[in-house]
Amino acid sequence: MRNLRAQLISILAGGIALFAISLIKANEIELPEIGDRSGATISPEQERDIGREFMRQLHNSVTIIDDPEIATYLQSLGYQLVANSDNRGQEFTFFIVQDSTINAFAAPGGYVGVHSELIKNTRTESELAAVMAHEIAHVTQHHLARAFEQGSRLSLPMAAAIVAAILLGMGTQNPDAGFAGMMAAQAGAAQLQINFTRSNEEEADRIGMQTLIRAGFDPFAMPAFFERLEQVSRYYGPEPPEFLSTHPVTRNRIADATGRAEALVTTPQLTARNQLQFYLMRSKLQVLTSDDKKQTVEQFSQALKTGRYLNEESARYGYALALTRAGNQNEARQQILQLLKKDTDNLAYLLVLAQIETAAGYFETAFEIYQKTLALYPNNYTVIINYASALLQGHQPHKARDLLKKQAQPGRGTVRIYHLLAKAEEEMGNRAESHRWLAEYYYYIGQIGMAIKQLQLANKAVGSNFYERSKIEARLRQLQTEATGKKNS
Ligand SMILES: [Zn+2]
Repeated sequence: MRNLRAQLISILAGGIALFAISLIKANEIELPEIGDRSGATISPEQERDIGREFMRQLHNSVTIIDDPEIATYLQSLGYQLVANSDNRGQEFTFFIVQDSTINAFAAPGGYVGVHSELIKNTRTESELAAVMAHEIAHVTQHHLARAFEQGSRLSLPMAAAIVAAILLGMGTQNPDAGFAGMMAAQAGAAQLQINFTRSNEEEADRIGMQTLIRAGFDPFAMPAFFERLEQVSRYYGPEPPEFLSTHPVTRNRIADATGRAEALVTTPQLTARNQLQFYLMRSKLQVLTSDDKKQTVEQFSQALKTGRYLNEESARYGYALALTRAGNQNEARQQILQLLKKDTDNLAYLLVLAQIETAAGYFETAFEIYQKTLALYPNNYTVIINYASALLQGHQPHKARDLLKKQAQPGRGTVRIYHLLAKAEEEMGNRAESHRWLAEYYYYIGQIGMAIKQLQLANKAVGSNFYERSKIEARLRQLQTEATGKKNS
C-alpha cells in the first residue's frame, strides 16, 4: 500500500514539476478578459470531468458531512446565490467538509466546499453567503480551469490530484489526509505557482459582491467577515487559517469590500430571508462535529443560562440535539417541546422530536411524528431519509423499502436513499437486490469501480432468475463502458 502510494506520488510529483514550469509561462501570458472564453482550450465537459474526479479523490481523503438537513440547507443557500450570479446555467454542488481549519474552496465543474470550522466562525447568514459568493465567482470566471489551459495534456486523475493539492493546500497537518494531502506535501513549492493569482482574488471579491447584493444579502457582511478572519488569524500565530493563506486579508481588501458595499447599495433592499434555519443548522453542525458529547451539552447549557448566544431558539435546539446525542432523552424532549409550543410546524424541531422518540425506543410515537411531518412537508428528502432510518431501526424493512422506492430518483444529491434501500433489502434477505442498490450508491458518489464490484456480487447472488439477471448484466455493461471510456479520454 505504502509502496504503491510512494511510487504514485513520485510519478505525480514529477508531473507537477513539469506542470509548474508550464504555469510560470502561463502567468506571463495575458489571461483572457472576464467572460471571454475564446482563448480557452479546456471545455466545460473537461471541467466537469476534472471536478467529478476531484470529488472522487476528495471522498477518500476527507469527511464530507452527509447530514441531509444541513446539506439541503447549504444547497438552497448556494442556489439562491447562483440564481443571481453571472452564470445562472452552471451546475453547482455545495458541501461541507468536516475540518477544524477555516477554509472554503471551489473546484472546476461547480464543486464548492466549505469547512465546518468556517461556518462555525460566521455570525450571520450573509457572512456565509459572502464566502460562497466569492467561491461561486471563481467557478463562473473559470479561474482554476484557466490555470489548466497550458497543462491540458495531463491525464484526468492527475489533473484532479493537482486540483486537490491546490485547493486543499497545506492541509497536510492531518496524517490521514490521504492521497490529496500527500500530493499537497509533494507539490510544495509548485503549488505556490498555481494558487489563484491576486487578480483572480480581486475579481472573485468584486463579482461575488455583486452576486451577494443581487441575492438580497447584506453586502457589509463581506468586509465584516474578512475583518473577523483577520482577528482570528492573530490567535493562530505564524500559521494562519487556510482561507487566509490562500486568501490573504489585507487592510486594502477589507477597505475595497467596504467601498464596494457602500457604492453598490443605494437603498438597502435586503430580502426578508428567515435567518432561523441558518442558526439552527449552525448549531447542528456544532453538535455533529464535536467529539465530546458531555462538553457540548455543557456549552449549550451555559449559553442558555448566561444568554450568550447568537439566537435563543438555535441555542435551545442545539441543547436538545446535544442532550439526545448524550443519551438524555427526557431532558432533550422537554427542550424541544418548549420550542415546538411556539413554532408548531417547524421542520427541524419535528425531526429532533422524532429522533428523540426513536432513541428512547418509542418507535410507534416516532413513526406518528414522521407521518405528520411528511404530510406537512410532502416528498421532503430529509424527512424520508430520517423516517426510513427509523423504520430500519425498528425492524420494519418492508415499510422502509416502500417509502424509499417511491422516492428513488437518480441524482448525486440523493445517494443516501440508495444506501438505505440496500440496508432494507439486506435485512429482508434479498442479497442480490442489496448489492444492486449499493452499486447505485457507489455510482452516484463517483466510485465506479466499487459499483462494478457490487454488480458482480449481485450477479453471483441472483440465482437463476433470468429477468433479474439480465437487468443486472445490462447495468454492468453500461458501467463497464463508462469506466473504460473514462480511462481512454
Ligand atoms: Zn478566492
